[in-house]
Amino acid sequence: MYGGYIIEEAGVYDLYANPRHPYTLGLIGSLPQIHEESHKKLFSIEGMPPVLYQKPTACPFAPRCSFVTERCWKENPVLEPVSEGHRVACWVNTSNGSK
Ligand code: SF4
Repeated sequence: MYGGYIIEEAGVYDLYANPRHPYTLGLIGSLPQIHEESHKKLFSIEGMPPVLYQKPTACPFAPRCSFVTERCWKENPVLEPVSEGHRVACWVNTSNGSK
């Protein structure tokens, strides 16, 4: 969930193996890796969470998203199936960059 919306829904194995939403990608990218020897700084998503008392007219993740497009500032995406049992609310296909 992000900003009060379900932004990605999948089985746990599918979600970790094939994350699609930019927020999910950021969350998974911020996980510490136990096998890493160096103590590098963990990835963090820049910016702040949205104000929850205002209904968004755009994608609530747009101000923090590295995939953001013009459409993201105009319409809040709804969940759409991307594969069996896997739904994502995003205008961009992050697996191939297509819009
Ligand atoms: S709809 Fe746009 S801003 Fe929102 S997560 Fe997808 S690419 Fe990012």
